[in-house]
Amino acid sequence: MSQTQLSWQQQLGEAFQSVAALCDYLQLDYREVDSAAASQSFPLRVTRAFADCMQKGNWQDPLLKQVLPIAAELTSPFGFSTDPVGDLTAMNETGLIHKYYGRVLFINTATCAIHCRYCFRRHFPYQHHQLSRQHYQQSLQYLRDHPEIQEVIFSGGDPLLLSDDKLIELIKELNQLPQMIRLRIHTRLPIVLPDRITEELIKALQHFNHSVIMVVHCNHPNELSVSVKQACQRISQAGIHLLNQTVLLKGINDSVDILSTLSEQLLISKILPYYCHLLDKAIGTAHFEVEKSIAIELMQQLHHRLPGYLVPKLVWEQAGAAAKTVLL
Ligand SMILES: *Cc1c(COP(=O)(O)O)cnc(C)c1O
Ligand code: SF4
Repeated sequence: MSQTQLSWQQQLGEAFQSVAALCDYLQLDYREVDSAAASQSFPLRVTRAFADCMQKGNWQDPLLKQVLPIAAELTSPFGFSTDPVGDLTAMNETGLIHKYYGRVLFINTATCAIHCRYCFRRHFPYQHHQLSRQHYQQSLQYLRDHPEIQEVIFSGGDPLLLSDDKLIELIKELNQLPQMIRLRIHTRLPIVLPDRITEELIKALQHFNHSVIMVVHCNHPNELSVSVKQACQRISQAGIHLLNQTVLLKGINDSVDILSTLSEQLLISKILPYYCHLLDKAIGTAHFEVEKSIAIELMQQLHHRLPGYLVPKLVWEQAGAAAKTVLL
């Protein structure tokens, strides 16, 4: 059976979970990479759909670099921590992170389809935030008690790993809250598992009575395969607004050419660039860091090359701040 005939759940089950298996698939010799120690705390995980966007035989592939555990992760320079943005401190016991006015992150699943090496959530003790029915009830009560919150952001982990039924159930609860006028979904699945975007999923999301915004996460134009583009076009046709956030990553997308191609290809996929994030300084990610001054310079060049709506806002998240800091 070919990969494309498998359901999204089956594809998830067949994701690569070892460096050896992925390297084998990519025609690389896994003995050339020192990945054992880095894999222990945060193992490799990548879908076949994402691996299919990588170039075979190329250690420098910009998508491979996002998921391959390497020894450089073991260094922890000054200034890097396990909770760089203060989310752990801000998360209440039900999985809500209410840091910004009027909107709240709802961490409703702990798993991702792919493990991005630069992710600050690699240090989250998610098991302490298991989502029981009781937790959902407490979260909903919190929202009832805070009528100023007009937007819920499903986050994770990846919220689109929830079943369609679970999503419908949550959305119906949100519909009961009169102040709730926006539902946002932060997800990487349209990029790394485009078959997740089924007709049923789109119908499930359309249960929400007001605006639905989906913020995907794509770092490099090579991630936008034909099936990814088609999945995003289906989402857009259903009236769901699509935005993208990118993390600026050294050796992966820190170039004007790559960033401008990314913006242009996103638009073809019906997605507008939203944020370009400076790296969150999580332990194990220092080798991805692009210096702030270089990042600002890159964005200025991008601004000269592209229409304003194709230039994402360069932002930086500081623990304790009332919003993301906009640098450009
Ligand atoms: C990024 C973030 C949001 C959303 O911020 P926007 O600027 O509205 O995109 C909300 N809550 C938390 C905790 C965040 O980190
Ligand atoms: S939360 Fe997003 S960035 Fe982090 S590992 Fe999951 S998919 Fe990657």
